[in-house]
Amino acid sequence: MTCRFDLAHYRELLGAARAGGYRFATFEREPRAGDLLLRHDVDLSLEAALRVAELEAQEGAQATYFLMTESVFYNLASAAGRSAIARLRELDHRVGLHAVHPRAILDERFDPVVAWHNPDPGYMTAAVEGAANVMEPRFFSPETYRSDSNGRWRHGCPHADLAAGRFAWLQLLTHPEIWAYPGETMGETMLAMLDAERARRLEQLAADRIDLS
Ligand SMILES: [Zn+2]
Ligand SMILES: [Zn+2]
Repeated sequence: MTCRFDLAHYRELLGAARAGGYRFATFEREPRAGDLLLRHDVDLSLEAALRVAELEAQEGAQATYFLMTESVFYNLASAAGRSAIARLRELDHRVGLHAVHPRAILDERFDPVVAWHNPDPGYMTAAVEGAANVMEPRFFSPETYRSDSNGRWRHGCPHADLAAGRFAWLQLLTHPEIWAYPGETMGETMLAMLDAERARRLEQLAADRIDLS
């Protein structure tokens, strides 16, 4: 098994979790032994989020998607943004807020759960009023947390440890863009994402009756 950041290996990760006896859980309650909390921080691309979400649904996995209301990359109030949330809900995933400190303004689109975007240590693990913070001590410890930040696993890809049931429980943070777009490095992956984005923008321009001749 090669530990690529691609959808095929993401599917294998979910299979490894199943083999290790884990069950999919959300941030609605404190983690119990055997829980796997799939967390996705959606920094850049709703399209990538939806591709991962569909795959998870095929695999019988449930995840929590943290979406931004202040992103420069996507607009949740657009038709595409609204339909992305609707589709995530349809697939039985949870939707939390990927918030930019200090604002954690939860409206009816979100479950009461917050993940800060690029948090500073000063507030990262602090309680948030009216919502769960995914980095609060009850949801986070170094032994029960793995993240793919910037296309790098700091402690190695967790598939073998999952398959062997070595985590008491696990919060697994992945960024859909890294998995949905091809590339051997984060830079290549981002360029692939921008190529896809360009094609999408051209369609949007045509739909907006912009003359592209
Ligand atoms: Zn792996
Ligand atoms: Zn983020």
